[in-house]
Amino acid sequence: MKEDYDIFGDIMVFDTTYRTNKYNLICAPFVGVNHHWKNVMFGCAFLADEKVESFQWLFEVFKKSMAGKCPVSLFTDQDQAISNAIEKVFPETRHRLCLWHLYQNAVSRFAKLKSENSFKDAFKKCLSGCVDETEFESCWRSMISEYKLENHPWFNRLYGLKEKWCTGLSKDFFSAGILSSQRSESTNHAIGFSAKKNTSLTEFYGIFKETLKHWRSKEQKDEFQCSRSMPESALPLTGILKHASEVYTLTIFRYFEAEFFKSISSSSIIVLLEDRMMVYDVSSYDNAGLSHRVIFDCFSNLITCSCKKFEECGFLCYHCLRVLHINSIFTIPEYYIKKRWTKFAKSEIWDKFSSTTGRLEKVDDCFLWRHEMTRKFYNLVLQCQENEEAWMIVEEGYNRDSQAVNTLITTLTSTEQSDTSIYLNSSHIVQDPTRSVTKGRSQRIKGHFQKNKKKKTVASNSITAKEFGSKTPNIRLL
Ligand SMILES: [Zn+2]
Repeated sequence: MKEDYDIFGDIMVFDTTYRTNKYNLICAPFVGVNHHWKNVMFGCAFLADEKVESFQWLFEVFKKSMAGKCPVSLFTDQDQAISNAIEKVFPETRHRLCLWHLYQNAVSRFAKLKSENSFKDAFKKCLSGCVDETEFESCWRSMISEYKLENHPWFNRLYGLKEKWCTGLSKDFFSAGILSSQRSESTNHAIGFSAKKNTSLTEFYGIFKETLKHWRSKEQKDEFQCSRSMPESALPLTGILKHASEVYTLTIFRYFEAEFFKSISSSSIIVLLEDRMMVYDVSSYDNAGLSHRVIFDCFSNLITCSCKKFEECGFLCYHCLRVLHINSIFTIPEYYIKKRWTKFAKSEIWDKFSSTTGRLEKVDDCFLWRHEMTRKFYNLVLQCQENEEAWMIVEEGYNRDSQAVNTLITTLTSTEQSDTSIYLNSSHIVQDPTRSVTKGRSQRIKGHFQKNKKKKTVASNSITAKEFGSKTPNIRLL
C-alpha cells in the first residue's frame, strides 16, 4: 500500500460513511485511483468519533506512515471536522467535496430538485458543467434568482464553499478529472466490502485482505492485457495516436483517443505569431460558440490551453492536439506524459522485483556450482584411484571438510531456531474487543449538509448500522 501511495497518492478519497454494527465504529478507508482507473487501497482506519482531533491524529499517523507525502487533491464526503484537520496536517492539499454526496444531500432537502428537471439541470450545471468562474457565477445567479433562493441558508453556505466543489474553479490542481468528467459515473468507485451483520474487527480484517487481493488481481490482469496487446482504433495507429498507444494504459489511451477524435473535427485560427510563440483559438464544430486559447512555443514544444485539461486530468486536450497536429508534432512532448497514467507507472516496483529475482539467479548459480564441484571431485577420485597414498589424502580431506561443514550447518540451524522461538514467544493472539458503548460514539457529528436531516438521518444510520458495508457502496464521486 505504501508503494501504491508513492505512485498514485496524488489523488486520494477519504470516506467516513461506513459503520460496523457490532462496535459502531467508523470505518474510514483511504482509496486512490491507479493507472487503469481502478481503485487502489492506501490504508484503512477505525475511528470512534468524528471530532477534529480524531481526524487530525489519523491524518498525522497516515502521513507519517507514508514518509510525509501529501496528496494533491483529497476528496471527502463531508466538510466540517475533516476540513479543519486537513488544513492542519495537509496544508498544501486541495480539499474537495464529493459531488455525489453533495448532490444526494441537496436532493434530500429540496423536493423540487427531484421533480423539476430544469432545476436539476441548473444545479448540475453549477456543480460540474461550468468551464470557468465567469460562467459559474452567471449560472449560479440565474438559478438562485429563478428559484428564489437568495436567503436560503443552505445555498448560501454552499456558495461559500464553492472552491471545494465547483469544477470550473479547480482546474489548476490535478484531480485526475474525477469531478468534471462523466466517466466517474460509469466507473463508480465502489469499495464494496462484503461484510455482513455483526461483523467483528478480526472478521473485517479478513474481508479487508480479500478486497485487496481482488483489487490487486484485477490490476495484474490489466497489466497483463496492456503488456500483451496494442489497442485497436477506428483510425490508423500513426503519429501521435500511435505514440499514445505505446505509452498509455488501455483505459487512458481511450480517453486520449476521444480527445484526438475531437481534435480532427475541431477548427482553429491563428490569432498571434510572434517569434517562437503561436497563439490559436480552437473550437469544436458542435460547440462553435465556445473556443479555447492555445499558446504554443514551437522551439520547446511547450503548450498550454485555457481549458486546463492537462493540469486537471493529466493528459492533453483536443485543443492542444489540434495545434500540435497543425505544427507536425507527431509525438506527445515528454513533459505532457504523466507517468502515473502510463504502462510504466509501476516501473520502479518492477526494478525492485528484478533485484529480488537476482536471488533466484543465485539459486541457479548454486545448481551450477553443485555440478561443477561434483565434476571436480569425481576427477580427483579418478586421478588418485591408482595410488593408495593419494586415497588417504583425499579421505582425510573429506573427513576434515565434512566435519567443518557439519559444525557450520549445526550452528546456523540452532541460531535460526532460537530466533523463531523468540518470535513465537513474542507473538500475541489477537482477539476482538468486547462491545462497549462510550459517550459520544453513537451519534455522528453532522456535516455542513446534514444538519436539518434529523428523522431521515437517524433512519438511514440505523440501516447502515444493521448492514455494515453490505448496503450502498459509498465511494461514488458523482
Ligand atoms: Zn484545451
